[in-house]
Amino acid sequence: MCFLPLIFRRAARAAPQHGRPRGSASGPTRMARQLLTLLVLSLALVAAARAEYHLGVFGHRPTETLQRQWQPLADELSQALAEPVTLEVLTPEALDREIAARRIDFLFTNPVHYIQEKHRHAFSGPIATLITVEHGVKTSAMGGVILVRRDGPVRQPEDLKGKRILISGGKGLGGYLAQAAWLLEQGVRVPQDVTLLPQGNHDAVVQALLEGKGEAGFVRTGLLEALAREGRLAPEDEARLMVLGEWHPPGFPYKITTALYPEWAFVVLPHVSPEVARKVALALYELTDRLDAIPDPRFTAAGIGGFTVPADYAGVERLAQRLRVPPFEHVEVELRDVLHQYALPLVLLALSAVLLALLTLRLWHTRRQLEHQRARLASALAETQTILETVDEAIYGTDAQGRCIFFNRAASEVLGFRPEEVLGKDPHELFHARRPDGQPYPAEHCPLHRALEAGQKVRQDDVFWRRDGLPVPVHVSASPRVEHDRVMGAVVAFHDITEEMRLLEELRRLAAYDPLTGLANRGHLEQRLQEAQSAAQRHKRPAALLMFDLDHFKKVNDTYGHAVGDRMLQAFARVLRHNLRPTDFIARYGGEEFIAILPDTSLDTAVKVAERVRQAWAQTQIPLDESGKILSGTVSIGVAPLEPDAPLDESLSRVDEAMYRAKREGRNQVALPPTGNKRLEAGVCS
Ligand code: GH3
Ligand code: MG
Ligand code: MG
Repeated sequence: MCFLPLIFRRAARAAPQHGRPRGSASGPTRMARQLLTLLVLSLALVAAARAEYHLGVFGHRPTETLQRQWQPLADELSQALAEPVTLEVLTPEALDREIAARRIDFLFTNPVHYIQEKHRHAFSGPIATLITVEHGVKTSAMGGVILVRRDGPVRQPEDLKGKRILISGGKGLGGYLAQAAWLLEQGVRVPQDVTLLPQGNHDAVVQALLEGKGEAGFVRTGLLEALAREGRLAPEDEARLMVLGEWHPPGFPYKITTALYPEWAFVVLPHVSPEVARKVALALYELTDRLDAIPDPRFTAAGIGGFTVPADYAGVERLAQRLRVPPFEHVEVELRDVLHQYALPLVLLALSAVLLALLTLRLWHTRRQLEHQRARLASALAETQTILETVDEAIYGTDAQGRCIFFNRAASEVLGFRPEEVLGKDPHELFHARRPDGQPYPAEHCPLHRALEAGQKVRQDDVFWRRDGLPVPVHVSASPRVEHDRVMGAVVAFHDITEEMRLLEELRRLAAYDPLTGLANRGHLEQRLQEAQSAAQRHKRPAALLMFDLDHFKKVNDTYGHAVGDRMLQAFARVLRHNLRPTDFIARYGGEEFIAILPDTSLDTAVKVAERVRQAWAQTQIPLDESGKILSGTVSIGVAPLEPDAPLDESLSRVDEAMYRAKREGRNQVALPPTGNKRLEAGVCS
């Protein structure tokens, strides 16, 4: 007979039906049951009318002690339903399996486990919440206590950071999770911010705390009171302890730190019929009244004071979510939760992000501006470089110390140095440190160094030395480069003035000499007259002037042409050069008139010289053309002293008068001024 319940139980489990007791199950095992029915005919009919229920109770280890503890509850339900209710104390894993397989009809478990199973198997709320009783004290709520020593270092939650916390070892609601959730709200993360030291059980936590093995301890509510009541905690030891963040929820009989959470939940699983559920609820509530009236030691020993209407388990659910305990270990965090919990850091983060974005934008803008500027500078530099390399003006630049920083193409062409031979060196030392006479050229006189020193432009003609050792006359213009009142360097522009000097020399020569005859011109004459007069004064030596005028020269021009006249003038100049001393000065005074200054010469000697010239000219024969025709001419010559003390004009008019006298008196002769010495006049001019 003993195998019958087993058979029926198996059959019932194999045919799950919502809201029906297992006894009426049917399905795939119908055949088997029919077979069995045939075999045990009459007894089976009786047994088929009966139902059997299973009460699953949470237990870390399914022990006999627990089995005994909860048995009165199963008995109570059996009685209420008038059907057998089998108690099965199971581990969380086994309970989960059994619920999934619908082999459990009622579930009695702790709040955290209830939340986990509820989420896994999608069942509704509990029908009742346990009322515990301990030494006559009843409550349907529980929580966590954080104990610290009064003489210890912890006064407020954040003092716990970095401290040792004693725990029982389990991760239950009252002994760990409630405290961890409370501390998280206070800004202390467990276990990250602390060191956890498991002690095995709650009693050991209190003991270890008193012994100083940690700075705080987590225990469930009611433990402290129970230890004291049972004499396991001496009053003086109790006095050494303090409950961190203690508060007094109305109607709650124990010391508590954390939020209040409901006690164990009694759940009727969804497949059980509402009728049975109602019966069970009624039985549980009635049990409370009965135990209030007549305490039953079997229930008292199990800590059961009865059951009350189901409490709100949402707080437990929130705790599980907050602490990421199953079933929320992988849940997606809701944005609202994050906003609520991390409002300030998020605002700061957002502000930082905005600031960072603004800074990045600013940086990007500045970089773009810099890039534009750099591009503009590069193009300006390239342009400047092109200009520098294109201009004919030779240019080089130096830094403030006078070291060359650029040297253009024209400078290379003038001096023969390649830029790389000059860059970084002092150009003065390289091609300017010597004067044309070989003497050293001190740097302080160099235009470049003067411009750097004085901060002002310096211009001058100078001489640079080519790479091949030859001097180059140059015009130099050295300009300082000034930035913010500081001389940063200099730019020296120069050009070769060899050609200019040659032209200048030519101009000078042209200005002083007559191009036709090569003799000095009238302009030059004045200067030489001055010099000759000064010398005569100085040395107290006489000097004489001769004035020559070709006779009837116009006729030559008129008869033979201007070119022939020119040739005659050139021939006369040769005669003059030939018959006068190198120290004498000869100038073409105008047209066909010439003047000679005879320094250190007496009037007598001058007359003799004039006569020599007159004769020489008279004898000069100039071939007219290839026909062999010969041309000749005469000259009238005036002689006068260069008066050392009289104005020059006076001496000039005197000699002019003398020449006109010679003309007047028949030409082709030498004459003294009309007011001159008669004897001499007679002698010379005859
Ligand atoms: P006189 O005997 O009185 O000096 O008579 P003249 O013809 O020599 O004097 P006049 O002053 O009448 O003429 C001078 C001439 O000299 C006129 C001018 O054409 C000519 N003459 C002046 N300069 C030059 C020149 O550079 N070349 C040529 N071929 N003739 C010139
Ligand atoms: Mg004349
Ligand atoms: Mg003449």
